[in-house]
Amino acid sequence: MRIPDDAPAACPVCGNAYDSVSEHDAGLMVNLLDNERYRRVCFDPVGVDGEPRVRFYHHTHDQTAGGDRGDPPVAPE
Ligand SMILES: [Zn+2]
Repeated sequence: MRIPDDAPAACPVCGNAYDSVSEHDAGLMVNLLDNERYRRVCFDPVGVDGEPRVRFYHHTHDQTAGGDRGDPPVAPE
């Protein structure tokens, strides 16, 4: 995992402000159930030097209010 220095000011998925961003080149687990700091993570696929990466935009609870872009959150049953 690395912290990209060229990330946009707002989340490219939902358009909201975010608290932190991380970039991953391998699979990982995500569990935000009962997470006190973060309410949502948006996933943005990017290419870095020709290699696929996924950037995680971490939103706090306050940062998930509103948001006028992107599809509704996925909620698998
Ligand atoms: Zn977002």
